[in-house]
Amino acid sequence: MKSLNDGVAVLAGVGPKKVEQLMSLGIETIEELIMYFPFRYNDFQLRQIEDIADQEKVVLKGTVVTEAVVSHFGYKKNRLMFNIRQEHVVVKVTFFNQHFLQKQVHMGEEISVYGKWDSKRQSLMGIKILSSGAKEQSVDEFAPIYHVNKQVRQQTLVDIIAKGIEAYLPLVEDWLPDELVEKYHFLDRQTAVKAMHFPQTMTENQEARRRMVFEEFFEFQMRMQQLKHQEKTTDMGTEILYDNARLKTFIETLPFELTSAQKRVTNEICRDMRSSLHMHRLLQGDVGSGKTVIAAIVLYAAVTAGFQGAMMVPTEILAEQHFLSLTELFKDTDVRVALLTGSTKAKEKREILAQLANHELDIIVGTHALIQDGVDYHHLGLVITDEQHRFGVKQRQALREKGNHPDVLFMTATPIPRTLAITAYGEMDVSVIDELPAGRIPITTRWVKPQQLKTVLDWSAKELRQGHQVYVICPLIEESESLDLKNATELYDTLRDYYAPDFEVGLLHGKMKPAEKDDIMTKFKDNELQILVSTTVIEVGVNVPNATIMMIMDAERFGLAQLHQLRGRVGRGSEASYCILVSNPKNDTGIERMKIMTETTDGFVLSQKDLEMRGPGEFFGARQSGIPQFNVGDMVVDFDILETARQEASNIWEQYEWQIKAAYQLLAQRMVEVEQTGKFD
Ligand code: ADP
Ligand code: MG
Repeated sequence: MKSLNDGVAVLAGVGPKKVEQLMSLGIETIEELIMYFPFRYNDFQLRQIEDIADQEKVVLKGTVVTEAVVSHFGYKKNRLMFNIRQEHVVVKVTFFNQHFLQKQVHMGEEISVYGKWDSKRQSLMGIKILSSGAKEQSVDEFAPIYHVNKQVRQQTLVDIIAKGIEAYLPLVEDWLPDELVEKYHFLDRQTAVKAMHFPQTMTENQEARRRMVFEEFFEFQMRMQQLKHQEKTTDMGTEILYDNARLKTFIETLPFELTSAQKRVTNEICRDMRSSLHMHRLLQGDVGSGKTVIAAIVLYAAVTAGFQGAMMVPTEILAEQHFLSLTELFKDTDVRVALLTGSTKAKEKREILAQLANHELDIIVGTHALIQDGVDYHHLGLVITDEQHRFGVKQRQALREKGNHPDVLFMTATPIPRTLAITAYGEMDVSVIDELPAGRIPITTRWVKPQQLKTVLDWSAKELRQGHQVYVICPLIEESESLDLKNATELYDTLRDYYAPDFEVGLLHGKMKPAEKDDIMTKFKDNELQILVSTTVIEVGVNVPNATIMMIMDAERFGLAQLHQLRGRVGRGSEASYCILVSNPKNDTGIERMKIMTETTDGFVLSQKDLEMRGPGEFFGARQSGIPQFNVGDMVVDFDILETARQEASNIWEQYEWQIKAAYQLLAQRMVEVEQTGKFD
């Protein structure tokens, strides 16, 4: 029986070689083939002459005003020429070696010609005739253009997709409930799939896209709802009945008074922990807003209730930094904290694991290793993640298998717009720290060209002489790590020469052993080093209030969110601080980024701009962020559709046992497939 899961080889003319070619595009089945949508269409839309640039390929439509004449020249060469008139302008059209087109050109008739515009000669070099007289060849007007590679030709792919659609379109099932198709006037699925590839008109194509974007987001939101229901019903959360008196004492002994925003979010989190429902909360707060101390407070709460807590971060440096901060904050308590990362020695690791299992440890800080196999907790109640953005389904499962189904708090300095956060993370609750501790002076940001580096160094020397410290960040890009390291080392040497003998410079890079990094960081913290050159990006989790200058080399290589993070490393004390962007951007986006950085220090404004400029994929730190990649939809551009899809999915899940309703039969089936294939996990 025919099925959309058939391999592409079932199509006539698709032999082993083509199968292999298609595989290189990730296409193996018919379904994958017909869901491989074009990223744009040859824009054969009619244009006005005054809007056309020289040598641009366009379609001109006009009335034929001279007879078509063929002249022969050279060896077997010929030229077909005629004039068309578009309103008051007459344009000469020339075709080479296509004299047979002569019979399609008739005086007084309308004609559309696709060709290359020559603005000096006011003439069109014809490529093809799209329509003449009443004969429309409209389909060609929107020829699809696919992402292809060296192995697959555009036309080959077009032909195979056309074949696939011809033979299999009737098998495409419309699993979107009728009520939604009617409510939003969507095209049916078969029409939409076809019109994604071969639209009759651009309007039809837009309609097709609207439908496909909706169904994709809807499917995702249905899965999010499903997870939420599984978590809220089948697995009850953990009641963390903390000792309020001890918690109060702990907060009172902190070296500062909490801001009112910090108090508010602490209450929100504590309420969740006390509740028997599973906590799934996002804590947003700009860099420097004081999230680490909140983490310490709620971890402490969990410990007073007899639970263990885990704090998970994406990198080792950040783990080390958090470990140091927590150790410091817990120094007058009996809370036992340990650090576990990929570079923890085997013997130490064994000890830590044993202590976790028999509850000789209360808090563990580390990287992903914390929820892997072989890590057993005695009584894990709370997991905090920092800058992990989204906890995929697999990680949630791993956590559940740890036994107690602990509460989870996600912390992020990336000020994701609230609506996007809720939508993208499913039904997560959101807490926001929207206030910085008092007494902070806004950071001044300047953008300079690399040629001005010397001036900047002279000026920094003045700050240094006042006893302050300086960060210098060099970007590290994976593909050319060794080259970047060389750049950083060179810069380090330059700075050492420049500042000797008055000031000491240190170098911190990713290839160093944790002990070496620790050593450098400690020296910087203790002001034994005044200048720290670092290749690390967000990983600079160091908190050195005495540092007042953040200098970022090749700043155009960072996104706004990262630049903002880095800038947040200064301005932590009571002194005026500066962020210097050393950059020579090569494109408008780069220039725009530098300008925005100098204009605002508001993380939310920056994140909104960043989203607009780059799209969510990059914003959330590329693919590993866990934000799902959609085939057609764009979470930012199509945000309205995303939100509608969320509401509709939520409405359906509110209906008691919707899965057994006849109207949702196909949808329920589809969701089973989504779950089985792990599409959004
Ligand atoms: P984040 O993790 O949000 O970037 P941190 O927790 O590292 O911020 O806090 C930044 C700095 O502000 C730290 O030095 C911290 O001790 C300090 N801090 C936090 N909360 C307060 C507060 N309420 N008053 C004064 N200083 C604070
Ligand atoms: Mg932090």
